[in-house]
Amino acid sequence: MSAVSALPITERAELAELAERHSVRRAPTAVPSGPTLHTDLDAVAANTRLFAARVPGALMAVVKADGFGHGGAAVARTALAHGASWLGVTSIEEALTLRAGGATAPILSWLNTIDADFTAAIGERVDLAVPSAAHLDAITGAGLGARIHLHLDTGMARDGAAPRDWSALCRAARAAERAGLVRVVGVMGHLGCADVPGDPANAAGRAAFTWGVQIARAVGLRPALRHLAATSATLTYPAALHTMSRVGAGLVGIDPTGTTRLSPALTLTAPVVSVRRVARGTGVGYGHTWTADRATTLALLPLGYADGLPRVASGRAQVALRGRRCPVVGRISMDQVVVDVGDAPVRPGEVATVFGPGPGGEPTTADWASWSDTIEHEIVTGIGPRVVRA
Ligand SMILES: *Cc1c(COP(=O)(O)O)cnc(C)c1O
Repeated sequence: MSAVSALPITERAELAELAERHSVRRAPTAVPSGPTLHTDLDAVAANTRLFAARVPGALMAVVKADGFGHGGAAVARTALAHGASWLGVTSIEEALTLRAGGATAPILSWLNTIDADFTAAIGERVDLAVPSAAHLDAITGAGLGARIHLHLDTGMARDGAAPRDWSALCRAARAAERAGLVRVVGVMGHLGCADVPGDPANAAGRAAFTWGVQIARAVGLRPALRHLAATSATLTYPAALHTMSRVGAGLVGIDPTGTTRLSPALTLTAPVVSVRRVARGTGVGYGHTWTADRATTLALLPLGYADGLPRVASGRAQVALRGRRCPVVGRISMDQVVVDVGDAPVRPGEVATVFGPGPGGEPTTADWASWSDTIEHEIVTGIGPRVVRA
């Protein structure tokens, strides 16, 4: 029983009335009043066209983790309208969410436990990656007609079958195909060092993949979809492109190789809650890790590490206010940060840009990644659920 339903009826009515009056008094507004995340789908469209022009075969839009935090359904729809023909996700749940949202394009799901709902995946025409004999058994036991992509470990020791298990997996898949249980439509691998062009692991991974395809063919498989490259290899390693490329980060404007001008798509804004003038010597936030070295004005923003601003960026991060970069001072708290705006006459309600595409001088997700000793992927996928998606 909730605290409210435990109250006598009359008090409950009073509470309801209070809530009603309160909500009436708040100005109705179409603009969300708190921290807001916006995805520029034109940027996603432009990036997709760039990648579609570079791949010799099909382009798979990888929209795992809610489209790298940009909104899975919207990124999928945009990418499919601008040159991608496939969608890629890790889990079956993510694939089913895309189907429920109306996506009809082919979808590949490549990371599932052996007790995953393969029956649902087959029913919704979701292709499945197969990294082991145990997965193959689980899939053939779950229903007829699964379309599968055999997954070879091409040098990351992460997902995919180890080379020593590969021929046995190919033979088992061929037997299942002959028995009419599955159709082996693809072979996939993944490169671990493609963001460093020229790393010897790239050539080794490419050779492992070529070997893996040869083994598959030798046992009678005819996988038409052969895919090794993700964003980095698609941009810098044309020899690794086969009949499909799986591109995620690049579609949302992240280039791990630093070679290509892509369009960043994400903007995070937050309104100023309050401002205060403080004297020189004032300590700010938990632990007083920053002390004002002069009289200054501090602005409070209502977002913190629970919303995806890494606490480790404390003492380095900046935001833009009135077109100017201002330092975040003191520790980043769970729900709030303090910004030193100097003598600017900032007022409550003014909107700060935490990060954006950058042309206005605002910080970018690349800046936040460097202030946090991480990569942009972690920043864009880390924005918390309290932040309104606009
Ligand atoms: C995430 C992922 C991709 C997409 O990688 P990007 O570098 O973001 O393009 C491709 N393949 C696999 C197996 C992945 O896990």
